[in-house]
Parts: sequence; structure tokens; C-alpha cells
Amino acid sequence: MPMTVIQWFPGHMAKAKREVQEKLKLIDVAFELLDARLPMSSRNPMIDDILGQKPRLILLNKADMADEAVTEQWIRYFHDQGRLALPIDAQSGTGVRQIAAAAKEMVKDKFEKMRAKGIKNPRPVRALIVGIPNVGKSTLINRLAGRHIAKTGDKPGVTKAQQWIKVGKEMELLDTPGILWPKFEDEDVGYKLAVTGAIKDEILNLQDVAVYALRFLSTHYPNRLAERYGLDDIPDDIVALFDTIGRRRGCLTSGGAVDYDKVADIVLYDIRTEKLGRLSFETPASRT
Ligand code: GDP
Repeated sequence: MPMTVIQWFPGHMAKAKREVQEKLKLIDVAFELLDARLPMSSRNPMIDDILGQKPRLILLNKADMADEAVTEQWIRYFHDQGRLALPIDAQSGTGVRQIAAAAKEMVKDKFEKMRAKGIKNPRPVRALIVGIPNVGKSTLINRLAGRHIAKTGDKPGVTKAQQWIKVGKEMELLDTPGILWPKFEDEDVGYKLAVTGAIKDEILNLQDVAVYALRFLSTHYPNRLAERYGLDDIPDDIVALFDTIGRRRGCLTSGGAVDYDKVADIVLYDIRTEKLGRLSFETPASRT
């Protein structure tokens, strides 16, 4: 699927919030989709305000690419805040089957009350997926639907009526997700989103993003970095690190100098395609 970048301005944010809140009126439970590799940076900063008291299930998507031990820490972190978080991989479907059961459990009390009022066969649980761009909303909708549902925004200017997608017998999902903005004000957040490919490469300087990524890897995953690029030790100096990787990988200009753009490209490509293994970019202790 092509990567979409939405330019967010205050007016757009207010509109997005309004749109999500309109959809909330139709549903019983919201699925807050986060990137398991950076659950805080991929979270909308106003999410508590936007969702209010609506029952919420947190889904840590792309868990297949995240450091498993760190994902466990996040699940505990959310649990301590009284929230259930499930790790999922919307692309392959791992963990997706647990969603409907968890959603049902969350709205048990509401449905019990419906039954107590004499409604014998309550309707299916109604759900909405919310999340920032590129977190995997469409992939999850398609996975839950068991078929391809056209992505909103695929056809500019065409707004289609919202529809319910049946997920088994007991759940219905709105076919258009709630699209929310990330926390832009924080430079760290921007870099993490860029490293994971969640925001378009043209927006930030690629060398800057690679500098951020290499500093992060040097601190948190030094062995993986050393192994991938055949480094005996990791230079503290970032230019020296670029130089070493560049020479190892043959990223040279015709004059024989290291081509830093090429090094940046390779490092980011390697991270995004898991050549450095499963990586998490923030832990509950380091959360942004
Ligand atoms: P949306 O903008 O939130 O609707 O995001 P998309 O559904 O378009 O997904 C963005 C990118 O992430 C696509 O390239 C997907 O294939 C990929 N993706 C989505 N879910 C997963 C997942 O669980 N694991 C992995 N590895 N990739 C995923």
C-alpha cells in the first residue's frame, strides 16, 4: 500500500477529532492502534480527551518487528494503568483472533444491562479502529474483514457512506478508521516515526534520521550494529561511524569519499526490513 502523508494543521486536527467523536457515537468499543516498536510516539497526544470514557482496547501492531521483551514491558505498563493491550501482527494475522473476544469482554456490563432490560439477542459489539497514519489501520480492517476493503483516501474527493463489516457473529467494525495525528512537537517522536518509515522520507533530512538511528542503535543494540556491519568496535564519533559503515559497504563517491546519503539509505533500509533484527525504539522507562 502506498505511504500516505497527511499534512496536519490546527484546523485539520480539530476536524479529525470531530470526525472520530462522531464515529464514537456509533460504537461500543474503540481499538487504539499503536506501533509496538514505539507505542508512545505513535500515539495521538489527545487520545484520552478524544475517546473520553469509551471502552478502549489497545492493540500493539507490528509486534512482529518489535523487540518481544520490550513489548512485554509495554503490556505490563498499560495493564498497570488499567488498560488491556494485545500484541498483534495485522499483516500475518497473529493475535488478531483475540480481538473480538477481548472487545466482547470489555462491553460485558453494557450488554448485560441490555439483557436485563429484556433484549434477548443483543446486537453484535460495534467497534472502531483509531490511529495515526501508517500504523496499520487498513491492514487490520482487511484482516478482520477477511477481504480487501478500499482505503478511504484512495480516491480523493470521494466520500463513501460508512458501512459495518461483520467480524464473525459477534462483532461489527466500521469500515472507515478514525485517523489521528501524532505528537509532532517533540523532535524525538518525529525521528522515531521517520526511522520506522511512518512518515515520508522527504519530510526530514535522511542523514539526520540515520544519525538518530545510528546513535540509538549504538546505545541500545550495539551488538546488532557491530554484527551487521562487521565493526570491531563502535566509534563514538558519528562521522567516524558513517565512514566505517560506508567503507565496509562500499558507499563511495567516484572520488573515493564516503557517500553519506548512501550510508543513510542503507542503514534505514536495513532497519525497516529487519536486517538488524526486531527493534523497539522506546520502553516504558524511556517513554516520550
Ligand atoms: P494505515 O495508514 O494506518 O491504514 O496503515 P496501512 O494499513 O496502510 O499500513 C502501513 C504499512 O504497514 C503497510 O506497508 C503495511 O503492509 C504495514 N503493516 C501493517 N500492519 C503490519 C504488521 O502487523 N506487521 C508488519 N510487519 N507490517 C505491517
